[in-house]
Amino acid sequence: MRVVVIGAGIVGAAVAAGLTRRGAQVTVLEERFPGAGTTGASFAWVNANHADSEPYFTLAHAGLHAHYALGSDAFQPTGHLEWATGDGRLVELSRRVERLRGREYAVERITADQATELEPGLTTRPEGTEYVLFPEEAHVFPARLLGRLLAEARAGGAEVENGAAVREVRSGSAGASVVLADGDVRTTDVVVSCAGRWTDMLLDIPMRVPGVGTTGYLATTSPLPTPLSRVLTTDGLSVRPDGGGRLLLRARDLDFAADPALPPAPRIGAELLARLPEVLTGTEGAHVEQIRVAAHATPARGRTVAGFVDDAEHVYAVVTRDGVTLAPLLADLVAGEVYGTESALLAPFRPGADVLAFPAGTSL
Ligand SMILES: Cc1cc2nc3c(=O)[nH]c(=O)nc-3n(C[C@H](O)[C@H](O)[C@H](O)COP(=O)(O)OP(=O)(O)OC[C@H]3O[C@@H](n4cnc5c(N)ncnc54)[C@H](O)[C@@H]3O)c2cc1C
Repeated sequence: MRVVVIGAGIVGAAVAAGLTRRGAQVTVLEERFPGAGTTGASFAWVNANHADSEPYFTLAHAGLHAHYALGSDAFQPTGHLEWATGDGRLVELSRRVERLRGREYAVERITADQATELEPGLTTRPEGTEYVLFPEEAHVFPARLLGRLLAEARAGGAEVENGAAVREVRSGSAGASVVLADGDVRTTDVVVSCAGRWTDMLLDIPMRVPGVGTTGYLATTSPLPTPLSRVLTTDGLSVRPDGGGRLLLRARDLDFAADPALPPAPRIGAELLARLPEVLTGTEGAHVEQIRVAAHATPARGRTVAGFVDDAEHVYAVVTRDGVTLAPLLADLVAGEVYGTESALLAPFRPGADVLAFPAGTSL
């Protein structure tokens, strides 16, 4: 089967790898370069911690396990440590822990001493601080995982074309085709759109516009002599190791001002850095090497959309807000669906009513 995959982010790379595992002849068309989209700026915490519905929890939990099965060297299965102080956060964390326990998710309440044993760089917290360990959670280095998946796809015969901007996707009775910006038309058996937050420029899948709740800042520090081996969530700052002693910082309460069309205000980096000594020792003299504004790929109807968008089943779309968590799983499930094996895990996330139905042979 010939398949054109649109987009070489983490999702497109995973889907390309999954398709080549099944013997498909894959061409990946990427407008800019691999990782140029959201994947290039992601916190990349692998988890099902905040899943808002049962079907989404089941999907994300399977996504977490698929990372273990893939076993890439980009995957850091070191767990996630969270602490909470103050009434609102304590109540929220406590409810989440109980909900996750009910779902048989790995979660342990631990003492301050146990937390410090795990992460010797933690600052001393006031009495009443609650510590929770999510031992199965993880983080990845997204560029490395992207490279791993693309290399697998290439080894399976896939071609990756950079600078190949798709402007139109067409479904016909005998297959599909894409029209590139230079007017070139490629025919194929199936098109899989993995265009991330630009999905709505190709297909009728409504996406949330970049704004509050869909954008965020990520700051990378200079290398620091601070031991940190896992994702750390605290009241005012989330931190994870970013390789070479660097730390990746984010704070959701600062994200409201993030606009991917504008350079980040210097005060954001300063504010993130100012919060770091409250969380970790040995961070004196840290500076921000890089700060990025990133925009999520968020479908208007929820966290994930996956499925065929045409009656003839020649055009498939997959777009998700948690692409790093789900990528290895989507490699398998999406490739399976393209080959005719429907996934029960993806069934609740069909494009459904948000995609205008159109008969085979019409232009999308
Ligand atoms: C601040 C922030 C923190 C995050 N933290 C996490 C986290 O902790 N855990 C997690 O699981 N997820 C997280 N995410 C989300 C995750 O990073 C994304 O879901 C994931 O990277 C999306 O991957 P993608 O391949 O779908 O999209 P992208 O990486 O955006 O890739 C899409 C690609 O398609 C290309 N493209 C678009 N249109 C066309 C076209 N017409 N023709 C050809 N190519 C095209 C683009 O150039 C791009 O390279 C975070 C996101 C943000 C913004």
